[in-house]
Amino acid sequence: MRCRVCDGNDFSLAVDLKDQPWGNHFLQSSEVGNEPFYPLRVVYCHTCQTAQLDYTVKKEVMFSDHTYLSGVTRSLYDHFQKIAEEVDSRFFADKTKKRALDIGSNDGTQLRCYQALNYEVLGVESSKRIAETANEQNIPTLNAFFNLDTAKTLSGKFDLINASGVFFHLEELHSVTDGIQFLLDENGVFVVQFLYMKSIMENTAFDQIYHEHLLYYTLKTIETLLARHGLSLFDAYLSPIHGGSIIGFVSHAGKKEPTERLKAMRQEEENSRCNDLVSYQAFARQIEQLKAKNLQYLSEKKAQGKTIYGMGAPVKGNTLLNYFGIGKEILSYLVEKNEMRKGLFSPGKHIPIVIEKELIKPPDVYYVLAWNFKREILKNNQALIDQGVEFYFPVDPKGA
Ligand SMILES: [Zn+2]
Repeated sequence: MRCRVCDGNDFSLAVDLKDQPWGNHFLQSSEVGNEPFYPLRVVYCHTCQTAQLDYTVKKEVMFSDHTYLSGVTRSLYDHFQKIAEEVDSRFFADKTKKRALDIGSNDGTQLRCYQALNYEVLGVESSKRIAETANEQNIPTLNAFFNLDTAKTLSGKFDLINASGVFFHLEELHSVTDGIQFLLDENGVFVVQFLYMKSIMENTAFDQIYHEHLLYYTLKTIETLLARHGLSLFDAYLSPIHGGSIIGFVSHAGKKEPTERLKAMRQEEENSRCNDLVSYQAFARQIEQLKAKNLQYLSEKKAQGKTIYGMGAPVKGNTLLNYFGIGKEILSYLVEKNEMRKGLFSPGKHIPIVIEKELIKPPDVYYVLAWNFKREILKNNQALIDQGVEFYFPVDPKGA
């Protein structure tokens, strides 16, 4: 195996979550038990320090028919809105004709915010169904995998290019980054949003590790990647979205001076030693402690005769359920808002999904798999909390 970022071949095993099914494929009843399992292992590259999976599930398997909808949650929408307003007022307030491209644009939630600010928008989305939904809602969306070849079929340059997370799923990493460099206007800004490995480790948010996330970046490692493609990070900040994400601002190499807050974050990262293998080894031990704590909690509740349902059926929930070994004998159902997942079963553990609004009676305990929306979930469920329903967060990030 070669490093996805630097082509190096000197690795250490960092975290081994054993064989797992592809977490984003919720199963029809006919598929239950037939799902393939793949290794889910994070390795550490000694040459460039990038953490990455050493096994790739083919992108045609992972991204052609996914059912994740970014428009579903309020806090995600608010986050996208804030980013668009910030980018526009900071970089393009004086421009009259401006264009925005979103890579992995999903249902167009992010682009809708730019459209409202008078940008001509274009999305690129690999899921056919989701691209159709976006087009029906007047967000022009190309159903394709983004890479340099796709980029060359598009005309003109873009002032703003966005990639939220999805960019870092892609196995054609270098071609994707070249495509961005190719389409970015000379004075354009590429906004890259990704899970911050430093936060993942600090929060023991190991369930953010799944097959779609091939790479786990820090500032240092993403800067290594960008530098290879004539791009540079000039600003970044940490957002609480998804339990700790970096919002990074990228220009053509050397076009913009690094900001003071970026320099401060780089220093903080250096001080934390999160780019060192020892931090990954400590992370692996913390995952075992978290597993023991969670299983103890659940077995106590079960011993008391309580009913427990999972709240949310996010992809990361499957990493957690499969690695912790939590099945339907513990969680009777996963309760979910997204109706595209109605009647499906979780891969690996085969827990049935029910739609929240169709639920007749709440459980005694909600085991919250969508823990990154903690604040929103507690707020929306105050009535249940008042009735005595308990909400347990298996991963409990700081500041969420
Ligand atoms: Zn490397």
